[in-house]
Amino acid sequence: MKRIYPIEDFCIACRHCELMCQLEHSPSRDLIQLFKGTSSSSLKRIFVLQKGPVSLALNCRHCDEPLCAYACVAGALTKDPATGIVNFNQDKCIGCWTCIVACPYGVIVRNPGTGRITKCDLCPGRDVPACVEACPNGALALAEA
Ligand code: SF4
Ligand code: SF4
Repeated sequence: MKRIYPIEDFCIACRHCELMCQLEHSPSRDLIQLFKGTSSSSLKRIFVLQKGPVSLALNCRHCDEPLCAYACVAGALTKDPATGIVNFNQDKCIGCWTCIVACPYGVIVRNPGTGRITKCDLCPGRDVPACVEACPNGALALAEA
């Protein structure tokens, strides 16, 4: 499967990937409304980590052995055997946060608006995820694992 790989040498911590991720997942996909509102479904699913001069943007690795899915008590996280994507089913989630603890990358977040979680879905319907497309410096690569 194709995964998003961060290239830390190119990341300049501009956080444009975070913003475009939020926009892609916002109901209106309107930048002004995104800034004005606090839609529960417009949380970012990619996170820029920065320490000193080093930065990189991290999102779900869609792990071959997804500890989040193994830990989920409700079957809300499952790995699609065809695509390799670790999908989230909001209808099944009970908001116990076990997956947040289980994920070794820290890329699942609580969604205060829904009482459930939010994670990267690789932007369904897009050939190239919004964050990858948005990065002005080529610091995110979509590549076959
Ligand atoms: S949420 Fe974490 S554990 Fe689950 S597939 Fe993504 S990176 Fe792996
Ligand atoms: S918070 Fe939701 S997705 Fe996460 S482990 Fe609990 S039920 Fe599963």
